[in-house]
Amino acid sequence: MNPTPASPDRLDQTLNRVFGYRQFRPHQRQIIEQLVAGQSAFVLMPTGGGKSLCYQIPALLRPGVGIVISPLISLMKDQVDALRANGVTAAFYNSSLSPDNARQVLAQLHSGELDLLYIAPERLMRADFIERLRDIEIALIAIDEAHCVSQWGHDFRPEYAQLGELETLFPQVPRIALTATADPQTRKDILRVLKLEQAACHITGFDRPNIRYSVLEKHNPLSQLQQFLANHADEAGIIYALSRKRVERLTAQLYEKGFRAAAYHAGLSAEQRAWVQDQFLRDEIDIVVATVAFGMGIDKPDVRFVVHYDLPKNIESYYQETGRAGRDGLPAEALLLFGTQDMVLVRQLVESGDNPERVRIELHKLNTMIALAESVTCRRQVLLNYFGEQIEGCGNCDLCLDPPETFDATEDARKALSCVYRVGQAFGIRHVVDVLRGADTERIRRLGHDQLSTYGIGSDKSEIEWSSLIRQLIHHGYLLQDIEHYSVLRLTPEARPVLRGEKQLQLALPRTREKAKRKTRAPRGAAEIGPYDEALFERLRKLRKSLADEAGVPPYV
Ligand code: ADP
Ligand code: MG
Ligand code: ZN
Repeated sequence: MNPTPASPDRLDQTLNRVFGYRQFRPHQRQIIEQLVAGQSAFVLMPTGGGKSLCYQIPALLRPGVGIVISPLISLMKDQVDALRANGVTAAFYNSSLSPDNARQVLAQLHSGELDLLYIAPERLMRADFIERLRDIEIALIAIDEAHCVSQWGHDFRPEYAQLGELETLFPQVPRIALTATADPQTRKDILRVLKLEQAACHITGFDRPNIRYSVLEKHNPLSQLQQFLANHADEAGIIYALSRKRVERLTAQLYEKGFRAAAYHAGLSAEQRAWVQDQFLRDEIDIVVATVAFGMGIDKPDVRFVVHYDLPKNIESYYQETGRAGRDGLPAEALLLFGTQDMVLVRQLVESGDNPERVRIELHKLNTMIALAESVTCRRQVLLNYFGEQIEGCGNCDLCLDPPETFDATEDARKALSCVYRVGQAFGIRHVVDVLRGADTERIRRLGHDQLSTYGIGSDKSEIEWSSLIRQLIHHGYLLQDIEHYSVLRLTPEARPVLRGEKQLQLALPRTREKAKRKTRAPRGAAEIGPYDEALFERLRKLRKSLADEAGVPPYV
């Protein structure tokens, strides 16, 4: 243990004189004090939270050079430039250096003039480099973007896996691992791989209280979007869509309707992208319609809304992207349009990956994102819980502001449960809904299910209403979706008192009931709603089953 106590004055002075800031942000001081005292730490803090200072200041205050492991040459360069501008002696050592410059950096390293050295993991772990470090005083070792250590991180880098050896190579040197994105699995992995199980963990403030999260079931996305935009006239916003094609189509549609919108995706030239970014920053454009390519490094404080026109692949992306709204702390909105067809599409995208282990993990993450979209409890609660924070209802999300209306579902539940029973507990949601509504499908005729006593007893309700009800019966434990067997519905013992009429049930009305009503009143009546798209639902069923199989957890429970 290094006995040097960190005097608050020294910390404040360094913060003020070197970096020009008045005060520490939450957790920074504590982390810095621990490192200065020679203890190791793990820091989970959102992007922009101020992680860099947590190792930069201790590197200045402790004797020796601070070694910073960073995955990207561009990140190293940005940081080193910023440090040099503040008068800190910093350098990076990577493949972008000329042989001369590389020699110069090594000379600086050996002479002890460097405060901070940024380096890529594979360079650091080379035997000759480790040999060099044996003769050098090291202030600390920082592992930035530490999620790269884990297969579970979205950005796995095999070179990071060796960094655990640092613990035995430099047992006296405090280490600090930092990341902005780490779900519980990734976090455990980081601590294990880096041998930081004993380190103090600092998990801080992921909440963005000024952002209002809401999810709308996607049925007519363009008009839903227009309704939303009507409340955000002349405000700056970002709309994320899944593919370049969708981005371009939506941009054209918005443009036609008179919005000042422009497209941004990786298929555009660098000049075009720079132009869009610039116009957006200068408020010449209100809306950027973009793929995930947009946003990194864009610091526009007054983005008032972020819309996900399509489903994001995981909660990390959703959090990062929605986090671009309301950086100025003023009210901002995050809207997700969630449609079942998107689930299939995103799934196919995820599946097209060539590393089976990655695919398995990404499917699990997609599953978690879907659970957030389908949640009936506070969105923020689900979101923050993902990052390991616990809160009560937030009061600023669609579900808190407008809790789902409930209705006496006793009779409907009995109908649904007995229909599940009548079809022999051998069919999924779609077929049960078809039987309830008295649909005329090939399958129903072939199976003779139009002869069942439950055939058509639910023709007064839309398919949306029925599938919502059945999904809730699953959530509440009256039905079980047998994911091992094509997601067929089975009754649980809890269903019995409901079936016998001994138990009353209050359930939530589906969010899309306006739509259901509107469509039922359409001229062609029930037919207007249309039978479920057979092929789509077949794919959906498979999707849910394999999501569950591969993630090893039942979906939506
Ligand atoms: P992270 O690595 O967590 O994404 P950075 O370390 O890059 O975040 O910091 C984000 C921004 O916040 C930088 O511009 C940084 O200079 C600034 N910053 C960090 N700490 C403070 C502070 N105590 N006071 C003011 N600004 C700070
Ligand atoms: Mg950082
Ligand atoms: Zn809430």
